[in-house]
Amino acid sequence: MSFASKLVPDIHVIGDAGFGGTIPKSASAASAQGKACAEAVVKLMAGQPPDAPKLTGVCYNTVAPGYAFSQSGVYQAREGQFAEAEALATSPVDAPRELRAREAIDAQSWFKTVTVDAFG
Ligand SMILES: Cc1cc2nc3c(=O)[nH]c(=O)nc-3n(C[C@H](O)[C@H](O)[C@H](O)COP(=O)(O)OP(=O)(O)OC[C@H]3O[C@@H](n4cnc5c(N)ncnc54)[C@H](O)[C@@H]3O)c2cc1C
Repeated sequence: MSFASKLVPDIHVIGDAGFGGTIPKSASAASAQGKACAEAVVKLMAGQPPDAPKLTGVCYNTVAPGYAFSQSGVYQAREGQFAEAEALATSPVDAPRELRAREAIDAQSWFKTVTVDAFG
C-alpha cells in the first residue's frame, strides 16, 4: 500500500483527501496514514515494494471533565484500500466512572502524542 494517486504519478494522498476504504476520516487515521506513507515512499525510492500496513485509529469524545468515551479500530490494507482487520471497539455505555476517567486521561495523552507527531 503506497497511497499513490491513481491520477498523478509520484503523488501520494493521505488523510481526508484520500479514498481509503472503510478507515474513518479522522486525525488518528490521517496520522497513521502519514507514517505508513512515509515508510512506503522510502521503500519505493529504494526499489522495494511497500508493505501492507495495519493501521490503528482511535477517536475520543470527552463530554465532561474526566469523563470520556472512545472508539477504536484496526485496519488492514487489502487490494489498495483499508478494511477492518478487527471489530470496532467502543467503550460500553454503562462502563464504570473509573473507565470514563481513564479514557479522559487517554484522550489527553493521545492529543499530546498526535500533536507532537504532526508538528514536533
Ligand atoms: C468538528 C470536527 C471534529 C472532529 N473530531 C475528531 C476527533 O475527535 N478525532 C479525530 O481523530 N478526528 C476528528 N475530526 C477529523 C479530523 O479533524 C480530520 O480527519 C483530520 O484533520 C484530517 O487531517 P488531514 O491532514 O487529512 O486534513 P486537514 O486537517 O483538513 O488538513 C488539510 C490542510 O490543507 C489545507 N489546504 C486545503 N487546500 C489547500 C490548498 N489549495 N493549498 C494549501 N493548503 C490547503 C487546509 O487549510 C488544511 O490546513 C474532526 C473533524 C471535525 C470537522
